[in-house]
Amino acid sequence: MPNGIKHFCNIQKIFQYFLFRVQKRRRRLMGLYDEGFSRNLPHSSTVTMTNNFQVVGNFKLNIMMFKREIILNLNKYMIFKFQSSFVPKHEPVQLSDAITLEHFIKEHKRILVLTGAGISTESGIPDYRSANVGLYATSKSRPVIYQQFISNPEVRVRYWARNYIGWPRFSSMLPNYAHTFLKKLEDKNKIVHIITQNVDNLHTKAGSKNVLELHGTAYVVHCLICDYFINRHQFQNVLSKLNPQVFISDIYSVKPDGDVELTPEQIGGFKIPKCPKCEGNLLIPRIVFFGDNIPKERVQTVNDFVEVCDSLLVMGSSLFVYSGYRIVLNTKSANKPVAVVNIGPTRADDCVDIKIEAKFGEILPLINL
Ligand SMILES: [Zn+2]
Repeated sequence: MPNGIKHFCNIQKIFQYFLFRVQKRRRRLMGLYDEGFSRNLPHSSTVTMTNNFQVVGNFKLNIMMFKREIILNLNKYMIFKFQSSFVPKHEPVQLSDAITLEHFIKEHKRILVLTGAGISTESGIPDYRSANVGLYATSKSRPVIYQQFISNPEVRVRYWARNYIGWPRFSSMLPNYAHTFLKKLEDKNKIVHIITQNVDNLHTKAGSKNVLELHGTAYVVHCLICDYFINRHQFQNVLSKLNPQVFISDIYSVKPDGDVELTPEQIGGFKIPKCPKCEGNLLIPRIVFFGDNIPKERVQTVNDFVEVCDSLLVMGSSLFVYSGYRIVLNTKSANKPVAVVNIGPTRADDCVDIKIEAKFGEILPLINL
């Protein structure tokens, strides 16, 4: 057979193959759609939607509902196929929950947002307290206590060795759907401010401008004796020059504060620099460590936000840490509504107005802003 015809046949085969794949995908999608419509949805949602389709006849509404249906069913498929190892076990998202959250967002114009470690699990950073997948459930190591860090040089060496190894992976984490969603809300002037308990900088990476890092940031290192500070990326270079023998591989699983687990042998001989300004030995990330207190001015700023907001939306926090729980209590004391989206119980379940358990990547695509 001449070469030209051979090539033509090959191209035709490739085209047929892709056509087959596209048709198969469409069939599967429609199958999922039909199945979900009759079987997986709560009864009330099905009835409402059927009424919408048949009686209301609002074309735009129907398209919106159809889009939601497709997303709902794709979500179920994705849960089955790609369960993230850091997202706690959860039920498929309910359409009624998505509608409740959408109403909450639409009803309010000055929402104060509080985010915790649960918002970053879909970016590949574990949280602290979730069952089976959180740091406390999967590891015996605990975050360094502030008093240990400042009083014990060995703790500081161990801390920085682990932080040095974990940094390339931790700093390469990217924002997920939830961070981007909040950026869109900010662009629509719906948000007074985002307060985050996380130190991972993912809200800023997503482009949000009004972010208060309640527990500080892992992206700046400062001296506890003088006013010297340095960008964490630059500090990595300093550590790297001091420790050329230390090899960083990509096999470590990183923790919410950028920490990784190392054996004493791996830590042995690790060197940490002195402060170049005061020669002191207390360089520390600008993070509020466990056992340390949030600066008073920051607490006051949070109180000011509570005063000017018209509602509070908590995303991905068990509110176990009092600094976050206090924001909920203060908002409720001011008679303002509070909605919580978190997989698993929270400390404030009894006092909040709305509690939804859902994965952000599944519920947020259902919200029409
Ligand atoms: Zn200093």
